[in-house]
Amino acid sequence: MTNIAFIGLGNMGGPMAANLIKSGHKVIAFDLVAASRNQAESDGAAIAESAVGSVKGADVVITMLPAGKHVLSVWDEVISSMSKGALIIDCSTIDVESAKKAHALAAKHGIASVDAPVSGGTGGAKGATLTFMCGGEDKAFAAAKPILEKMGKKIVHCGGAGAGQAAKICNNMILGISMIAVSEAFALAEKLGLSHQALFDVASTSSGQCWSLTSYCPVPGPVPTSPANNDYKPGFASALMVKDLTLAQDAAKAAGAATPLGKHAQEIYKAFDAEGNGGVDFSGIIRHVRGLR
Ligand code: NAD
Repeated sequence: MTNIAFIGLGNMGGPMAANLIKSGHKVIAFDLVAASRNQAESDGAAIAESAVGSVKGADVVITMLPAGKHVLSVWDEVISSMSKGALIIDCSTIDVESAKKAHALAAKHGIASVDAPVSGGTGGAKGATLTFMCGGEDKAFAAAKPILEKMGKKIVHCGGAGAGQAAKICNNMILGISMIAVSEAFALAEKLGLSHQALFDVASTSSGQCWSLTSYCPVPGPVPTSPANNDYKPGFASALMVKDLTLAQDAAKAAGAATPLGKHAQEIYKAFDAEGNGGVDFSGIIRHVRGLR
């Protein structure tokens, strides 16, 4: 049994903390929101009065927060209260620069650290089937892996500090672009009088095959579990897709990489959000694509 402090008990962090408890770890949890603290308490967590209170005596500290500024502020607040030899893991999706700063802060205090953003959404958080993409030193990753395995099914060491975040935003840039590509193909097929099922049957077994088509099809019917069959309820909200595509653009700018399709995809999802669709699943982008002239 490991003593784990869990800070940030939202849509993802809440069920992730619950899975650590189910697997036999002792979790002391904190969130700014009382309802999230209460839910964690009913899942079996001990509740701390503050972030600092949660980390005292913990072997491992996990943060699952909205953005880089929250992570840097919480790590700054708690790091000097952590035990010597403890490990800190951030599972939030944040910008690469903030992730590197967070690692540097931990190193300054002699604390091992890992950036470990996730893929798999709230379903993966509940079912403990997340994929973790990790950045950090070998020793820190080796210590984090058995803990992450209680919340996920695939744990990948991508490289040094910030490499997990880099992998996450590159993956989600592929996802954002490919969902628009699949949506454009269905919108064109509709105009050409081709049925959804016919296009699916061909493309899913041909060179157009991709996850956005075969696992998350943006039209109802061919993949019964996709959000298209549930009025595009998330799933993965398009506001989060805008967030991730913006992180990708920031990273591309900082690194001097050309990502014109990533930039265009960011603009398309931003326009969709501006039409009041931030809470709609990102595959609902097909509605916007159909309206483009
Ligand atoms: P959320 O908004 O539901 O949860 C964030 C939680 O952090 C909230 O409960 C909030 O009260 C808490 N918080 C904020 N500042 C805090 C502080 N200073 N101290 C303590 N608690 C604080 O967000 P989420 O959907 O759980 O996402 C968390 C992270 O995971 C984000 O970075 C997101 O991009 C990423 N992510 C989300 C999904 C998804 O499908 N929701 C999928 C993959 C990755």
